Amino acid sequence: MTQEKKNIAIIGSGLVGSLLAIYLKRYGHKITVFDRRPDIRNIEFSGRSINLAMSNRGWNALKTVGIEDEIRKIAIPLDKRAMHVIGKEQYFQKYGKDGEAIWSISRGVLNKRMIDLAEENGVDFRFEEKVWDIDLPEAIVYTGETEKGEWKEYPFDLVFGCDGAFSRVRHKMQRRSRFDYSQDFIDVGYKELTIPANADGTHKLDKHSFHIWPRGKFMFIAMPNLDGSFTCTLFMPFEGDISFESLKTKKDAVHFFNTYFPNVKDEIENLTEDFFRNPTSAMVTMKCYPWTYWDKVALVGDSAHAVVPFYGQGMNAGFEDIFVLDQLIQEFGDDWGHIFSTYQEKRKPNADAIAELSYRNFMEMSSKTADTNFLLQKKIEKHFSTKHPEKWIPAYSRVTFSNRPYSEALAEGDAQEEIMKEVMKIPGIAEKWDSEEIENLMLELIK
Ligand SMILES: Cc1cc2nc3c(=O)[nH]c(=O)nc-3n(C[C@H](O)[C@H](O)[C@H](O)COP(=O)(O)OP(=O)(O)OC[C@H]3O[C@@H](n4cnc5c(N)ncnc54)[C@H](O)[C@@H]3O)c2cc1C
Repeated sequence: MTQEKKNIAIIGSGLVGSLLAIYLKRYGHKITVFDRRPDIRNIEFSGRSINLAMSNRGWNALKTVGIEDEIRKIAIPLDKRAMHVIGKEQYFQKYGKDGEAIWSISRGVLNKRMIDLAEENGVDFRFEEKVWDIDLPEAIVYTGETEKGEWKEYPFDLVFGCDGAFSRVRHKMQRRSRFDYSQDFIDVGYKELTIPANADGTHKLDKHSFHIWPRGKFMFIAMPNLDGSFTCTLFMPFEGDISFESLKTKKDAVHFFNTYFPNVKDEIENLTEDFFRNPTSAMVTMKCYPWTYWDKVALVGDSAHAVVPFYGQGMNAGFEDIFVLDQLIQEFGDDWGHIFSTYQEKRKPNADAIAELSYRNFMEMSSKTADTNFLLQKKIEKHFSTKHPEKWIPAYSRVTFSNRPYSEALAEGDAQEEIMKEVMKIPGIAEKWDSEEIENLMLELIK
């Protein structure tokens, strides 16, 4: 497919902006990417590495531009959850079928690689240049040092807002009439902590697992890095009995880790140090509509749909936006008006669905993963789905290991939940969960 060459601006050189640049450059457009931050390739990481889980949708988008294999080399496959429940030995829950895994990858390493690739293909990056305003109908971008200072003016044919959850491009669109917008912060925050490698560079915990310590209102998770360390995240309420606010002194933090995370006792010195050094961050679900302005401006990634991170899908969803946009470019050629309107119509229901699924997973991961009934329900579902894989695909698998729409995963998941409500009501279910009677009942209910 060839396209009439355009002069295109992408605001934001994050994961979504840099991948979009690689995609669009293939059509021969002139691409300029603005970012208010310095070039991350010149920044020394302070030892802290933010990790993401890449799954099918992400890989699919990388494959189209031929960088999937290269990126797999810097990622670690995780085929199961390792559960650390108080009073129990560590146990494992496989994510999917054999060979199915999510992949732990450093956001910084991935972003650097994608900026390199975009630059090699002829994309121009303008770092440390903050965008303050956009003239939407004219696609003019204004940048400058300060909001009140002097601005530079850049005319473009098209502008893509890939500037994240607190997007400036969206901010401009918001000031128009009939623009829907909502933002919901959850009352739980997060802090990143580290478990370093053993002296010989090996991992201290199983490196092919996504480790979870569910503790009711709070939760600790750990994902492996290539250097033997684990990046951990503590999710906890901002305020309340056990909260970020309540842990004021080193003694409080040591007591907290000792009490709730006995199997990482050796790491307490490290964890406590990180706890007071690293910031506490908030999590938000942001929805808006429309995502585009005429044939001039489009929002892609977190700027259009930020979700809480409990399904590990934010970046994957942003990459899928790009994949879908690209398919529409192939279909509609130079008709950018049509490309944009179809893009937002196709993606919006899916973005809303992954927002909902992510929020539900937050509830599930933090409180239910240690609940006996919930575990029994999951065991029955797993047993049934192993016997009838074509009849029962778990929502998690649909989201993580398929490219079917998120909205379909949400609808199918709701239907399965209704069936499970009936099944869990059966007297003595805990004893006969794997019986033929239950299997037949489920087969009947599916009909
Ligand atoms: C704790 C946590 C865990 C997560 N885990 C996962 C996971 O496991 N899997 C997954 O798929 N997703 C995960 N996510 C989500 C993922 O990080 C985001 O969805 C993804 O980074 C969004 O990419 P983006 O490029 O749209 O936005 P961002 O990464 O926010 O990038 C936006 C860029 O725009 C630039 N910018 C902003 N404003 C301006 C301006 N005015 N002018 C110029 N430049 C500007 C910024 O400097 C930045 O570089 C997680 C998120 C969090 C918070």
